[in-house]
Amino acid sequence: MGMIAEANRFTAHRAEFLHPLLEAMSRDQLAQVQLKRLRAVLRNAWDHVPWHRARIEAAGLHPDSIDELDELRRLPFMMKDDLRGHYPFGLFARSMEQLARVHASSGTTGQPTVVGYTPGDLARWADLMARSLYSAGARPGDLVHNAYGYGLFTGGLGAHQGAERLGCPVVPMSGGGTERQAKLIMDFGAKVLCATPSYALAIAEVATQQGIDLRTSRLTVGMFGAEPWSAALREEIEARLGLKAYDVYGLSEIMGPGVACECECRNGLHGWEDHFLFEVIDPDTGVPVPEGEAGELVITTLAKEALPMLRYRTRDITRVTTERCDCGRTHARLLRVTGRNDDMLIIRGVNVYPSQIESALIGRPGLAPHYQLVIERRGALDHLRIEVEAEPGVAPDLFDELARDAVHQVKSLVGVTAEVVVHAPGDVPRSQGKAVRVRDLRPKGG
Ligand SMILES: [Zn+2]
Repeated sequence: MGMIAEANRFTAHRAEFLHPLLEAMSRDQLAQVQLKRLRAVLRNAWDHVPWHRARIEAAGLHPDSIDELDELRRLPFMMKDDLRGHYPFGLFARSMEQLARVHASSGTTGQPTVVGYTPGDLARWADLMARSLYSAGARPGDLVHNAYGYGLFTGGLGAHQGAERLGCPVVPMSGGGTERQAKLIMDFGAKVLCATPSYALAIAEVATQQGIDLRTSRLTVGMFGAEPWSAALREEIEARLGLKAYDVYGLSEIMGPGVACECECRNGLHGWEDHFLFEVIDPDTGVPVPEGEAGELVITTLAKEALPMLRYRTRDITRVTTERCDCGRTHARLLRVTGRNDDMLIIRGVNVYPSQIESALIGRPGLAPHYQLVIERRGALDHLRIEVEAEPGVAPDLFDELARDAVHQVKSLVGVTAEVVVHAPGDVPRSQGKAVRVRDLRPKGG
């Protein structure tokens, strides 16, 4: 079947796609596109970045001699430290006058990681973010309220340019000024909200305090990402905001938001394989795991000019399936991630992701979905304290009872013993961007 006929077969009976030819091409065609683009990205790295060239050569590879995608596995992984070690522009494949923009990570631990884009890179990023917005149900003309932070962080501008590319007017709110967020969502009639999930919840909370019911707003779609969030938090956000919440994935090292996004089926995030090659590896051995098994996501960019990334270890834990989605898109789905490898806590020998604790707490009667985890060393033992809030209106003499219930819930669902402290509403700090969920106060290196 030809490419167009194949695409039409699915668009005819199911979802609409922004780019049917690209989103519903056969897996074979997708592999051909990937191979062609892989040669080009290796050529780009080889020609312009001596560090890459040395590694490609040492692996016995050459851009012109790649015949199969699997040959890439001979190349060593890239790590965040490789970017830091070449701070700021050492791995760029283009000169300053060829760049259009530079973003950087916050650099809370060590050097920031710096990423660059040519005009073409920005255009492709906008295309992919537009594709992501569309797959989540946004349509040209829908007003987009963008509460992702603008600045060095890729979330704000990434969502912004994608919405504009789709033909959506954007309210460039950025994070913060939470009192004004709900008012403008109501007054302007935004249909799409872009934010981190924790900040969406903070907006909903402040709205309630202002007497604004966001469930009566025109919001229908929420595009939430930049931090791991649980299914329980999704339900909570949907109930409070009256919209359908979609998970969008990305990371600045690879591009920014729009690397993968949920479709209306919400059964995994379609990773846009015409632009990225996805691998899943055992984080300890580096060996690829069988399809469908959990492991660390590794991404190779297939079209980036300014900063080609070859086998980048994302630290994100996920499972990937290439089974066709009910929406008709053929691109692989990243099944919802448990969390980042970096976020995984080892508490008295038990592996714990903050999102597991979130799942155990959210929805418990009397508890509000605001929490923070504090880990300390007491003597030789790790001590986990969960600071969580009571719902407004719960009498303080019930806090101890709520805490006991939460201790039991966390122990039975996560397998770890924690102290739980229930606070009055408003006492746990709110995020305006990425939430700080964990404060690890244990001595380093111990
Ligand atoms: Zn789908």
